[in-house]
Amino acid sequence: MPPGFQYESEYVLRSRVVGVCKRMYAHGLIASTDGNVSVRLTERRLLVTPSGVHKGLLEPSDLVVVDGMGRPQRGGRASSELQMHLHIYEIRPDVRAIVHAHPPFAVACTLAKLALDVTYLPEVVFALGTIPTVPYSTPTTKDVSNAVDRVAQQHDAFMLERHGSVTLASDVETAYNRLEALEHTAKIVHAARQVGLIEPLPACEVKRLYQVAAAAGIRWRFLENS
Ligand SMILES: [Zn+2]
Repeated sequence: MPPGFQYESEYVLRSRVVGVCKRMYAHGLIASTDGNVSVRLTERRLLVTPSGVHKGLLEPSDLVVVDGMGRPQRGGRASSELQMHLHIYEIRPDVRAIVHAHPPFAVACTLAKLALDVTYLPEVVFALGTIPTVPYSTPTTKDVSNAVDRVAQQHDAFMLERHGSVTLASDVETAYNRLEALEHTAKIVHAARQVGLIEPLPACEVKRLYQVAAAAGIRWRFLENS
């Protein structure tokens, strides 16, 4: 963690995680018990949504505290995708919040093999960089951790083929905002495909957009590590 960084109180974080879960449900980004959210309470302790609880009806007291190995410390049974969250926190010390959802348009794009890592819209460069898709792996198994390993090291927003989205950030609201931006992009791409062929932005314009984003202080890991 950066020097002088202060973790927020568990009380505040419980309320913020529940707020994000309710927004996910209200915006149709998950159905009932789908999806999961976690935040770091400290470097080695996580606050995680419980398994099998309707996210629109979640209460702050429903959230579960686990240690860095996923062992329960307080509350009921943690999300079935806990292993994926633990793995991402392990490989991304900068990440302090993870949001996993099932956004319907973005998932539909993975079913239709409609790539979201092609730059169609300039604002995506600023909001997300690019949106790669991780090949299918069986949900809730260790295969998901293995599958996301390389992409999660480089990207803050990506899709799991035939399954859902994963967005990462230093705080839970930013991770949620990335989810909304991802699904909004997928909706536009999907709508445009209904009326005709769509062309990506020319490579020279994409390069220019990244230069403008960099000048505005936006940094994307996949560019710095490429
Ligand atoms: Zn899922």
